[in-house]
Amino acid sequence: MRTAEIKRRFLAHFENNDHTVVPSAPLPFEDPNLLFVNAGMVQFKPYLLGQVTPPFPRAVSVQKCVRTPDIDEVGKTSRHGTFFQMNGNFSFGDYFKEGAVKLAWELLTGSVADGGLGLDGDKLWPTVYVDDDEAYEIWRRVAGVPAERIQRRGKKDNFWSMGVPGPCGPCSEIFVDRGPEYGAEGGPTVDEDRYVELWNLVFMQYERGPGVGKENFEILGDLPAKNIDTGMGLERVAAYLQGVDNLYEIDEVWPILDRAAELTGKRYGVSTSHIAAQSHPDDVRLRVVADHVRTGLMLIGDGVTPSNEGRGYVLRRILRRAVRAVRLLGFEQPAMPELLPVARDCMAPSYPELAADFDRISQYAYGEEEAFLATLKSGTTILDTAIADTKKTGGSTLSGAQAFALHDTYGFPIDLTLEIAAEQGLSVDEDGFRRLMSEQRTRAKADAQARKTGHADTSAYRAVLDAGGAVEFTGYAEVSRESTVRAVLAGGAPLAGAGEGDEVELVLDTTPFYAEGGGQQADWGRIQLGGGEVEVYDVQQPVPGLVVHRAKVLRGEVRTGETGFAEIDIRRRRAISRSHTATHLVHQTIRNFLGESATQAGSLNAPGRLRFDFNTPGAVPASVLNDVEQQVNEVLMADLEVHAFVTSMAEARKLGAMALFGEKYGDEVRVVEVGDYARELCGGTHAARSGQLGVVKILHEASVGAGVRRVEALVGIDAFNFLAREHLLVSQLADTFRAKPEEVGDRVAQTISQLRDAEKELEKLRAQMVLANAGGLASGAEDVRGVALVATEAPGGASSGDVRTLVQEIRGRLSAGRAGVVAVSAANGGKASLVVAVNKAAREQGLSAKDLVKSALSGRGGGNDDLAQGGGVPAEQAPALLASIRELVAAAVPA
Ligand code: ATP
Ligand code: MG
Repeated sequence: MRTAEIKRRFLAHFENNDHTVVPSAPLPFEDPNLLFVNAGMVQFKPYLLGQVTPPFPRAVSVQKCVRTPDIDEVGKTSRHGTFFQMNGNFSFGDYFKEGAVKLAWELLTGSVADGGLGLDGDKLWPTVYVDDDEAYEIWRRVAGVPAERIQRRGKKDNFWSMGVPGPCGPCSEIFVDRGPEYGAEGGPTVDEDRYVELWNLVFMQYERGPGVGKENFEILGDLPAKNIDTGMGLERVAAYLQGVDNLYEIDEVWPILDRAAELTGKRYGVSTSHIAAQSHPDDVRLRVVADHVRTGLMLIGDGVTPSNEGRGYVLRRILRRAVRAVRLLGFEQPAMPELLPVARDCMAPSYPELAADFDRISQYAYGEEEAFLATLKSGTTILDTAIADTKKTGGSTLSGAQAFALHDTYGFPIDLTLEIAAEQGLSVDEDGFRRLMSEQRTRAKADAQARKTGHADTSAYRAVLDAGGAVEFTGYAEVSRESTVRAVLAGGAPLAGAGEGDEVELVLDTTPFYAEGGGQQADWGRIQLGGGEVEVYDVQQPVPGLVVHRAKVLRGEVRTGETGFAEIDIRRRRAISRSHTATHLVHQTIRNFLGESATQAGSLNAPGRLRFDFNTPGAVPASVLNDVEQQVNEVLMADLEVHAFVTSMAEARKLGAMALFGEKYGDEVRVVEVGDYARELCGGTHAARSGQLGVVKILHEASVGAGVRRVEALVGIDAFNFLAREHLLVSQLADTFRAKPEEVGDRVAQTISQLRDAEKELEKLRAQMVLANAGGLASGAEDVRGVALVATEAPGGASSGDVRTLVQEIRGRLSAGRAGVVAVSAANGGKASLVVAVNKAAREQGLSAKDLVKSALSGRGGGNDDLAQGGGVPAEQAPALLASIRELVAAAVPA
């Protein structure tokens, strides 16, 4: 069964069982704890954590995942990809263990004719958490699994939590037995390569207490609402159903592997064993190539681009590992242009945007490969220097630090360093290198761990929220107000008070300050307190409902319980509000021109400027962008009233208010309308009338990911200043060219073409001048033991082409019957070069242009017997080069 078909059946099965189908979140999803989405539950976290009321009780998704920690497993196990797709079903306080087991079992063992996957139930082995008798009993009763095929496992394998206080619970994993050729009998506790984990069912039922890691914590009690979170590895199921050994041989990956084998001339599957750990190294490399090329495609498709940090660095590493593996397989040309289109053809049936966006995607991938190949080249130069230095000082070992620097700074792989050093008779301090590597890895791991489980500890904020309730935002109607300090914190921990110079987080009981959210930037401002004053530079909601002012104490002291006067920076707020209203207008207008499917994908409302991302398949033509801009500005002139009101979700829908997919709304929603032109669900602040925006100037539009475009625009005085600057520029140009502004374009083009003609003419004249001397130089040839020798410096400014022409011209004017040698040196950019020509008679006497150049320049040159050139020595040596040619000629001819 093809992978796409398994995916389709999975979604259909759960949709038929009342689950809402939710599309995959993009791989670089906005979650501060993760580089990439690594499980289906990531986009549902706010529901599972009880922070937001879920809009549906049941959901199903096929989530794109990237797990960088699995990178070293790729190809060596049969079941780990860096990119994979996780099929998941979710229940938010709805069905629990029995429902989850029943739904999973029905799909896995249901007959193919009835829409199931047709697995043999006798081959499936569920595991349960040691004391989860309830799950054990359900597997026996509901699925009829015999006792000997249900295994109990401890916390390490079968208990789930996020590593911080919050929901947790036992899991139950479903393994499939692939048969004796894959390993030992005895179920998943004995061999996880023979018994492969297909599906993990997580039963969130308890509240986890504080503590470290996966095992050291207390269970505080039951959760009020129990949740189900499951993850089925799509590729693993496909590998099993397609009867292949591992997930690199399934329909969505195999063609890439096959092409890589063809390209490198390697035969895949040399080892006859089915066990991945016993594979030939070339097989592992081919799997790495196939896996990494696909992962690269998916990451770039979702808008990640190669860089030196964060997500971009992971992408870079994956692409470079692929290129490196291809080279180790013996192919040295660029391989991406051969492999990436194959990966696209594999994945586009499920992700059509990859085909539509392939030009952009491939540019990044091909560019990265070229850059890496260049790195390999420059790394080789740096390595050569290090080797030369080591030899000069009489050493025989390249230090670990040098090898590490090559690796870390230049991305130069250690195995290459070893290889090249060995060719030069040097060894490398590998232990030192590995020590530095492992130190770096520990740092990286700690960092990754912190990201994975280190959900910023929000318990102190929660306590403040629980004690005093949600903070009321009064800033729709006012810009300042009297308020009481409810709590003082720093870095998420409570403080009794703070003094001058301290950075604090203040919670007030009510506030006019807008916390960053919905694309709108935070308010800034000041809070005057009885004993002091603070400057607010950021406002956030670390937990929904709690507004936290990040501030610096300017003078005096700040204490809980104090009353103060909070006042926002009004200019900033107004400028932001104008941008926000402009964003709504741009959004509506883009939809007017591109259709309803052009939905918002993100936005930024900053003082004087906005950014608006929206879904649409291709670039927006400039003419459409002009139309959008014009229509928006017409709405400004109509000076429509901006009006906000709170209503029910149902009523808002009826009014046709635009809502954002993926945003969580309660039953009560706030609607912002600009006259009758735009109506949108929004919690932000706005201008009072569209006329206050003044001008909106769209700057440009560009791609920011598969099927997502971005426009940026300026609003109000910033838009005016921009236009004024452009106008000034054009007037200055018009003055300079003494032309009318509308003629400037033509005049610039005309001037450039005149310049080009003049340059060509100049070149011709210079060449003529150089050659004009040829006759004189030839007749002034000196006699060196019977050989006519012209040794001279080229006139200043001669190009290397000029010098070659001159040399040949002089040679042509020497008498043919007599041996003749011409040597012309030139100095350019601080370096001297030398061109030598030898005529036929001289060659018959054993003189060679190539030998002369190489001897004069100690090897730095090339060419053939009648014409050769070289260079690269300091310019001062030019006369010496000619002198040595004279000596060489003399030495070569018998006296
Ligand atoms: P394993 O122990 O085999 O690495 P896991 O315990 O890390 O798996 P989960 O985190 O429970 O896996 O993920 C849910 C499902 O996703 C697994 O049952 C498996 O089918 C699939 N899965 C996990 N990691 C990968 C991967 N690197 N490549 C392909 N599928 C994976
Ligand atoms: Mg794993």
